[in-house]
Parts: sequence; structure tokens; C-alpha cells
Amino acid sequence: MAIAKRPPPELFKLATNAWTKPFWDAAARHSLVVAQCTGCGACRMPPTPFCPTCQSQQIDWRTLSGLGEVYSYTVVERAILPGMTEHLPYVPAVITLEGGGSVRLISNVVDVELADLAVGMKVMVVWDDFSEGVAVPRFAPWAG
Ligand SMILES: [Zn+2]
Repeated sequence: MAIAKRPPPELFKLATNAWTKPFWDAAARHSLVVAQCTGCGACRMPPTPFCPTCQSQQIDWRTLSGLGEVYSYTVVERAILPGMTEHLPYVPAVITLEGGGSVRLISNVVDVELADLAVGMKVMVVWDDFSEGVAVPRFAPWAG
């Protein structure tokens, strides 16, 4: 049975700006946060400068439970770069975040047998520590 692995770290390059830096600063502390508009309460991801609902620029960073649900996914089984072979298969996924309103995060589902993958599957954040205080959220099955 094939287990979902992690994509090659070379595919990840962190680039932050004033709006996204708080997300990645929290991630470095293994805390999953979402931008919540203080004007209307809507959560948004990515944390754009203006709320698409009420145009407010004021946000709070709300800490989430780290639980979520698989909204959509795909399985990458072919290497498009030579160094990818040992990282296959991996599973890019769209995750609905508990407490995050309509926010969904693009990430990966890891440490799951491919046969068990399903839309609606309950998952929990796990953190992959990269160099120099950079941590990347992935999601693993959660039995509840
Ligand atoms: Zn708003």
C-alpha cells in the first residue's frame, strides 16, 4: 500500500510580505492562524490588504485548532523533476479549516494510505520544520 509522502522541499520557497508575514511567524511557532476582519468578522486566506466583504483593512490573527477536513485533493505519482522520484506519491490538497469560516488552505495530506484518502476526511495539522525558523503546515489523518 502506498503512503502519501512529503513533496520535495526544493519546491517550497517562502516569500512573505507585510500581509502574509504574521501567518508564517505563527507557523514558525507551530500555530495555525487565519486573518479575521475586525470590521465584519469574515476570515480570509490569503490575508489580502482589503476585506473582500467590507473593504476594511483591520485584521486580527485568530488561532485555529489545527483541525480540518479535506475539501479536494490530487495524487502526484510522476516526477516532473529528477529529484522528485523518492518523494512520490504526494498529495496536494485543499483543506477546510475548523473555525476558519469559508477559508481553505492549500497544503498536503501526508502519512496516509492512498486508499484511505477521501473528500471530507478529518485531518489535523502537522508541522514540517524547515531551516531557519520556517515551518510548513501539512495535514495528517485525525481519528477524532
Ligand atoms: Zn470585513
